[in-house]
Amino acid sequence: MSAQEVALFGDQVAATRLSAKFAAVDSQKMLRLTIEDLYPGKIALVSSFGSDSAVLLHMVSEIDKALPIVFVDTLQLFPETLAYRDALVAQLGLTGVVTATPDPRVLDEEDSDKFLWTRDPDRCCEIRKIMPLAKALNGFEAWITGRKRFQAMTRMSLPLFEAEGERVKINPLAGWTQVKLDAYFEMHGLPRHDLVKQNYLSIGCVPCTSPVKPGEEARAGRWRGRGKTECGIHIQTLDAGSDI
Ligand code: SF4
Repeated sequence: MSAQEVALFGDQVAATRLSAKFAAVDSQKMLRLTIEDLYPGKIALVSSFGSDSAVLLHMVSEIDKALPIVFVDTLQLFPETLAYRDALVAQLGLTGVVTATPDPRVLDEEDSDKFLWTRDPDRCCEIRKIMPLAKALNGFEAWITGRKRFQAMTRMSLPLFEAEGERVKINPLAGWTQVKLDAYFEMHGLPRHDLVKQNYLSIGCVPCTSPVKPGEEARAGRWRGRGKTECGIHIQTLDAGSDI
């Protein structure tokens, strides 16, 4: 990878070229290249410690156990998620996990009753997820996500690399299937999130997450019946310091 290509990462065309270039590269190898060669010291993994998160976390643990890992605790999460985070951190020996939380002053002003999710879920996601994440990613040039194409219609064309303002977003598992994820769990003896056995296939906040029914796509249980499919983290440019 040339320095010129890296410089061009802020450009969507360059990101598309790189997606094509890495299309046939093994996910673990791609992850190692991005962490060690492309963005040494300037890349973070963002993990929800949800249903499939253990796969990427395990891959990262084999490359750099101290890699910064941002976990956004909206303060509305399932206790099972917090327990899973602690169990995986201990099992994988991860030392770089940072928990980002909402600004208490903003919560006091806008969501003191913790029911903003009923009145204005987009604003709720903004103050509880997007703003804390933007602040945590300040200073990083790239971040890694665990998104997969099969999870939802809205993610069917998910590329491996995305330009996001001046930052790069990398989706090493974009082309993975549930079968491949399950095989990875099995092969490496990774524990499952406790809610998976109750058919929670995509796990977010308690008020906005429900189990998935047979035949539904993996993210069908998120914001069920409310016409909302993403928290906003992946559909707008993160810019720490501004009211995104
Ligand atoms: S998922 Fe629901 S509770 Fe969580 S931040 Fe978004 S609207 Fe609020």
